[in-house]
Amino acid sequence: MIIMKTGATEEQIARVVNEIMKYGLRADVSRGAFKTVIGLIGDERKIPFSHFEVLPGVKEVLRVEIPYKLVSREYSKYSESMSKHKVIKVKNVRIGGKEPVYIAGPCAVESKEQLFRIAEAVKKAGAHILRGGIFKPRSSVHSFQGLGAVDRKMAEKALKWLREAGEKFEMPVVTETRGEVHVDLVAEYADILQIGARNMYDQDLLTMVARKKKPVLLKRHFGAGIEEFLSFAEYIAAEGNKDIILCERGIVPIGKGRTYTRYTLDLAAVPAMQKETYLPVIVDPSHGTGRRDLIFNMSCAAIAAGACGLMIEVHYDPVEALVDSQQMITPDELKDTIEACQHIYKLAQPKIKVS
Ligand code: PEP
Ligand code: MN
Repeated sequence: MIIMKTGATEEQIARVVNEIMKYGLRADVSRGAFKTVIGLIGDERKIPFSHFEVLPGVKEVLRVEIPYKLVSREYSKYSESMSKHKVIKVKNVRIGGKEPVYIAGPCAVESKEQLFRIAEAVKKAGAHILRGGIFKPRSSVHSFQGLGAVDRKMAEKALKWLREAGEKFEMPVVTETRGEVHVDLVAEYADILQIGARNMYDQDLLTMVARKKKPVLLKRHFGAGIEEFLSFAEYIAAEGNKDIILCERGIVPIGKGRTYTRYTLDLAAVPAMQKETYLPVIVDPSHGTGRRDLIFNMSCAAIAAGACGLMIEVHYDPVEALVDSQQMITPDELKDTIEACQHIYKLAQPKIKVS
């Protein structure tokens, strides 16, 4: 990590970047209001650090211990600016901006009618972004794998419905890319590319998705620590794509016996991560609890904890849903949840400090 002096010129910055490239590494230039910080991507052992210390315009050369320096708040302009988080703009929606963002929709897209009916209802309830799984990660090969698994034609048809529903009800759309083979196709239609919890560790998938230059919604693996989660977000940032939304969606519950929740929603991770990274963090209380009767409470708690938004599974008749019916709420319940969250947001969020 190379910290440039205040007022370092563009030529001086370019020279440092050139020197870094000479050693076969890549440079990530982050320009703040007062200082420019240049991150090195690649094998740092190849670099004679003392050489960089004497280049014109260089203030300091730091060996950074944290493995997620590109997404860290400390080594970014967000440590000195007034904005709390990086604001990710997707069409008319700003994630990480002044207001929380609500993502809602079915767990899985099942038909055009189902999707459009839910899209209209969630929009009316106050949602900003439409979700809908087409390539579903499932524990059993015998269960419904999403329309994407039928064949390529069906996958594309479902992706088109998703885009059409988004256009009709004026919401950007997010859907999962479960494997490398889906990336090109999904990126053609989705505004935000989701990486599911099970794939958080798949560095090749992360890299491929990052290269699409579209915002990425990265879900935390249910066994991943915070440092690991941020380190894998770093794979996306290392491709020059810092439009990353982090999603806390619950970790494996502890103890023997009945656990009462599908996962343990780690809400302390929200403020803990937001002190470490400038990336916006959202919460998914649907997968985090696995219980529709807990979603209202946990949504309120997530917003009070400082989450930049929520992702909630919604269905007009949850028992009809082919996937995750036990954790879906109705559009009316979504409306109540968003209203309550907005009250809490106005009270709590202005007082939350991230650094
Ligand atoms: C989802 O959001 O559709 C999903 C499958 O969630 P997760 O990857 O968190 O299990
Ligand atoms: Mn689901």
